Formats: sequence, structure tokens, C-alpha cells
Amino acid sequence: MEIDRPLPNPMTPEAKPYWDGLREQKLMLPKCGACGHVFWYPRVACPRCHARSIGWIQSKGRGTLHAFEIGYQSFNKAFKVPTPYVLAMVELAEGPRMLSNLINVEADPRKLTCDMPVEVVFSKLTDEVTLPLFQPAGR
Ligand SMILES: [Zn+2]
Repeated sequence: MEIDRPLPNPMTPEAKPYWDGLREQKLMLPKCGACGHVFWYPRVACPRCHARSIGWIQSKGRGTLHAFEIGYQSFNKAFKVPTPYVLAMVELAEGPRMLSNLINVEADPRKLTCDMPVEVVFSKLTDEVTLPLFQPAGR
């Protein structure tokens, strides 16, 4: 697969379980050991209570389309994702909202509705980096 975007660095300690999980086709989410808050993206401390005891749960990979925008041009030459593309804010069943792309759907505002059910698709870019993208559920 052609690399169509800059690669993230999966080596930061607080995010390593996230990237390790994606390589195994698992969407892992950080969960605070003190208050139970499940959040995204991975951080060294809970964004709600600032505790540093962070555990991990596996997401079912399902959620709803909370918000979206359609990109008709690339905002940076480093991104070669074909346009138009759908930038999606997905609300996972476990609670967190995550920013991703919606794929396997026509990038047409008439075909997309907020709250439509979506599911994760694992897109392997390299041996190190797999990205969690989303598609309409039940494809
Ligand atoms: Zn907390």
C-alpha cells in the first residue's frame, strides 16, 4: 500500500499499547485506574482527574458518526489521501470521541448523517503502523 500520509511515531511510552493493539487489529483505549474514565487519545495522565495510573480496555470498534467534514483539497502536501475524503469525529460505544477518516462511503453530504452507525477498519500502512479508520456499520 502506498503511504498516503505522514506516519505517527508509535514509540512514545504512553501510546505504545495503542499502536501495539492496532498491529493486532485491536482498538485499545486508555482507561483511568482511579476514576474509570475511558478516553482517547493516549496520555500520561487522565484528562478528567489527572491520575497517572492508566490501564487499557479493548474497544468493540463500534460507534456513531458524531460529526464530519468533507475535504475537497489537501491542506498539506505531505497528505496524498485522494480527495474528496471524509474527516470524521466518531463517538465510540465506550464513550470517547476519536478523529479518523470515514471510508468505503461516497464523500457526499447527502450520503452521510450524524449518528449513523460506524465500525472500525484497520488500515495497515507499514509493519509498525496500522491506522484505525471507520466505515458505515454492516459493510
Ligand atoms: Zn481519572
